[in-house]
Amino acid sequence: MKISTSLIHEHNVKHESGAVIAPIIMATTFERNEDQLTYPQGYLYSRWDNPNRASLENKLAIVEGGTTAICFASGLAAATAVFQSLKSGDHIVMADDTYFTMRTIVNTLYAGFGLSYTLVDMTNLEELKNAIQPNTKLIWMESPSNPAIKVTDLAAVVQIAKVHNCFTVADNTWATPFYTKPLALGVDIVLHSTTKYLGGHSDILGGALIFKEQNERTEFIKKVQMYSGAVPSPFECWLLCRSMTTFTARMSIHSSNALKLAKYLEKEPKIDRVLYPGLPSHPQHIIAKKQMKGGYGGMLSILVKGGREPALKLCSLLKLFTHATSLGGVESLIEHRVSIESADSKTPDNLLRISVGIEDIDDLIADFKQALKLL
Ligand SMILES: *Cc1c(COP(=O)(O)O)cnc(C)c1O
Repeated sequence: MKISTSLIHEHNVKHESGAVIAPIIMATTFERNEDQLTYPQGYLYSRWDNPNRASLENKLAIVEGGTTAICFASGLAAATAVFQSLKSGDHIVMADDTYFTMRTIVNTLYAGFGLSYTLVDMTNLEELKNAIQPNTKLIWMESPSNPAIKVTDLAAVVQIAKVHNCFTVADNTWATPFYTKPLALGVDIVLHSTTKYLGGHSDILGGALIFKEQNERTEFIKKVQMYSGAVPSPFECWLLCRSMTTFTARMSIHSSNALKLAKYLEKEPKIDRVLYPGLPSHPQHIIAKKQMKGGYGGMLSILVKGGREPALKLCSLLKLFTHATSLGGVESLIEHRVSIESADSKTPDNLLRISVGIEDIDDLIADFKQALKLL
């Protein structure tokens, strides 16, 4: 089955009434069988596992083509579980514009645990090779990156990681499995903030890890989920399963809208640059074309001529693009990115990050036209 079909038809939770939509099992505990030892479907206590979470993890494994998926209460809880699987003295190489809180986790939560990291431009493979140390265990990628929209050649990084016995993580939140399949390119673990495109409606916080194979690290991370308990509730799992039934339909519109908006903005004289992997002017367009199948996703960044002030003014002049953080929802959002990032952020102060929604593209372009006229 293709993804769109299996996301609709894969149900772990069926109701005896014949209800077409899966029920929500809110129970925290499950009754034993008559032997007083076993459980009817193996569910014992909801933090360990429950029917709605099992259903979600099954869908997540299918959508990324993984052997197994483990879900968490947020994208950062999922990321933290990966860092917890490292040992004191281990070193990480991370893309320099990885989602900025990843660094904060290692710097603050793991400050006393002996983890270290080096930031590199992941599009520069020589820089990556030079950053690898004898104790490097993990290479952390994000493509397209946030907010510079750099595209990493995932397969090329995997080759380098294999030579040095490192495992690889790709944060696939932005590209989504509809456009990029990191596991098929040899990446070990895919990370998602399911808060974004998989949730799709800006109303569920969630995260997930999807694994290429089952190994000791997979087992350990499963224990992090079970014992640390940063798990989504059955209701959130159910809601996310519901959202995922329309995932492929939404993505096609996000992506075609983003391409049209990017092409239009590139011609606007008040915009200095448009960063979108689907534009031939993008520095890694060739890699994007090879790696991203069928489209380039819904995220783009623009650099506004004149610096910080006109960038902020443009945000206030737009009527359909809400000035807010986050991404991946049906509604279009715009954000002056540097104002939310940490003090050492290298993001230019005229950069606006846009999450293109699924509104009618004519309305979105008309909104930019009226705003740029007043700028
Ligand atoms: C939002 C985001 C995260 C963090 O996820 P939360 O669900 O907010 O914890 C991680 N990576 C990327 C690329 C994101 O956009």
